[in-house]
Amino acid sequence: MVTSNPPLFVAYFVSMKEVRTRFAPSPTGYLHVGGIRTALFAWLVARQTNGKFILRFEDTDKKREVEGAREHLIASLKALGLEYDEGPDIGGPFAPYVQSERTESYRKWAQKLIDAGRAYADTRSPEELDTIREDAKSKKKAFLARDYRPENTPEWKSGVPLRFKSEPKAYEWHDEVMGDLHTGPEVVDDFILIKSDGLPTYNFAHIIDDLEMEISCIIRGQEFIASQPNYLNLYEALEIERPKIATVPHILGPDGKKKLSKRDGAKDVLDYLRDGFLPDALVNFIASLGWNDGTEQEIFSRQELIEKFSLERVGRSGATFDERRLLWINGHYIRELPLEELYEKVADFWPVEAKDATDEYKKQVLSLVQERLKFFKELPELTTFFFTDLPVNPGLWQEHKQLKKLEQSELKTLLEESKASLEQSDFSVEDLTNRLNELLEKTGQKPAVLFSIIRIATTQAPASPGLADTLAVLGKEVSLKRIDQMLSALT
Ligand code: GLU
Repeated sequence: MVTSNPPLFVAYFVSMKEVRTRFAPSPTGYLHVGGIRTALFAWLVARQTNGKFILRFEDTDKKREVEGAREHLIASLKALGLEYDEGPDIGGPFAPYVQSERTESYRKWAQKLIDAGRAYADTRSPEELDTIREDAKSKKKAFLARDYRPENTPEWKSGVPLRFKSEPKAYEWHDEVMGDLHTGPEVVDDFILIKSDGLPTYNFAHIIDDLEMEISCIIRGQEFIASQPNYLNLYEALEIERPKIATVPHILGPDGKKKLSKRDGAKDVLDYLRDGFLPDALVNFIASLGWNDGTEQEIFSRQELIEKFSLERVGRSGATFDERRLLWINGHYIRELPLEELYEKVADFWPVEAKDATDEYKKQVLSLVQERLKFFKELPELTTFFFTDLPVNPGLWQEHKQLKKLEQSELKTLLEESKASLEQSDFSVEDLTNRLNELLEKTGQKPAVLFSIIRIATTQAPASPGLADTLAVLGKEVSLKRIDQMLSALT
């Protein structure tokens, strides 16, 4: 029988490996909004190729583990819509997705290294290791464990740290974000693979997991780049192929210098959502931390991000976390929402004073503040005066840039003239607009003076939506009553 070669397209599909990326957090607690960026990048890379996005918990540092962190991480990913295809809670073909449950695997691969003479039991106490470090220091040498390999190491058994026996050499490799990198042999060292508690180190475990979970591209933070030559050495010792590597630079605090931390006000993802930030806006913002598509475009829908994102366009230097940008982006998404949808979303954010107001009235108020609303939690600050009479606050005119220049009697006269005109109004936006303009002409005042005094009188708030719109929603009775209140305060 004559066998022919497989058709070309079959060979093509066989050689094409599925894209598989992972987010591999340690459940050590607080994950600031920037911390989830690697998850987003990995998710985007997987989604744009119909690949798989995997969640894996790297829980081998039991001392640092924080209770509830796992649930929190899962909730954060779900809330942002970064759904994963395999993970600790949903399983998958390479389960379990939790490192502490995979110790058998690590042991097996460790044995392979031991058999090949590439790992040794390290029975030295922490104190002995300290002495060695001191020795290197006194010789003004960088400490390298491989310069102090113990002689005659015993057979490795559980409870004893297992250390990698490196073969130092120079490396050149390509990083999908950082480009072509190279290092000399001096950075390759012997490192711990398995600790005395029987659990592997991150340095060892992630390599085995990425292999067994068939990860095609590792996307992770800059803190691991210095260890990359060690990892390359380990891949060789294990005789395994390595995934692609993409190293994402740090996110910097608002000063653009130090690494972003909680102190910089960067909140947890769930906190932002609780404050009324929209998942799409957060995703847009997080993607833009260090990535752009090469144009001026700043607003990207999820679908656009999936289409346009590329690791090559992630910047190599740190991205600055600027919360004002997040506010701006969120404000944009809020403005884009149809009123009905926005109304549903803000249901829990109204001030208590709004509890008896009708849906219709609240929608009118919402449509006025939609333009200015940056996040839902601001709603009471922007709207309380629509629902209740706030006490007259003299500070509002006494400290007002324009109004403080006027005598109290002048303010009073202006307000009386305004009242006289408004009393004649039907309180439609159109009529109010005309009357306000007439008043400007008649009094010869600037809007910054005249409108401010009317605004303060009727809202007792430092800012409000357009004056005519505000008055129309407040209605005639309330508006005039409040003007009277202020007139009494001016006497
Ligand atoms: N477990 C590591 C961390 O939380 C993840 C590093 C990686 O993605 O490989 O920092």
